[in-house]
Amino acid sequence: MRAGVNKAICVAWDIPSSEKASEIAKTYESVYYAVGVHPDNVDEYDAKKLENLIKQGIENKQKLVAVGEIGLDYYRIKDNKEKQKQVFISQIKLANKYHLPIIIHCRDAYGDTMEILKQFAPFKFGAVMHCYSGSLEYANELLKLGIKLSFTGVVTYKNATNVKEVVKNIPLDSFFLETDCPYLAPTPHRGERNEPANVLDTAKYVAELREMTLTDLISATDQNATTFFKLDIDRT
Ligand SMILES: [Zn+2]
Repeated sequence: MRAGVNKAICVAWDIPSSEKASEIAKTYESVYYAVGVHPDNVDEYDAKKLENLIKQGIENKQKLVAVGEIGLDYYRIKDNKEKQKQVFISQIKLANKYHLPIIIHCRDAYGDTMEILKQFAPFKFGAVMHCYSGSLEYANELLKLGIKLSFTGVVTYKNATNVKEVVKNIPLDSFFLETDCPYLAPTPHRGERNEPANVLDTAKYVAELREMTLTDLISATDQNATTFFKLDIDRT
């Protein structure tokens, strides 16, 4: 892959995209994948189907590296909070059962998300809150639970002052970078369809914020993600 991006994780949001992610990972050597049902799609959640996909991924020695995106999102849909919580918990249990880390999505649901995370911490197999955009205080709460943070191009946006504060102040081994493509392209690509190569622009920005070299920042975040998702184990 170009732009120095040599591995990517294709993350799902429902059952069909979980199946698709597994296909993409089969086709491309450098692509790993996660299966899971995003809180916007809880009506389609089927624990059996998801469990089967996880089993297949493990049995076939595919590159299944996590369960995600899972979590709570009260931004778009607010009238199904109980259902969202139920589906989130069910997927955390599945991830634990199959020794997989989780990729958490949280939007406008910080209190309820924390409550659930506290019930399941420590996450023996890892947990990361993706596209982190909360406060430094909340970030520290997550770090205390052993949860990693992941940052998108949002950190490069002018008005994202609290995200900048977080990425500047947390330990170097506690976070990684992502694109969340096709969404949230970093400056100067904001508004375009995002792609993995753009993670470099986010990295440049974060390196500047933390007053470190781009090489050091990339090597640290790359190592963090590699360890977290076990990208360096032999799967052949
Ligand atoms: Zn998300």
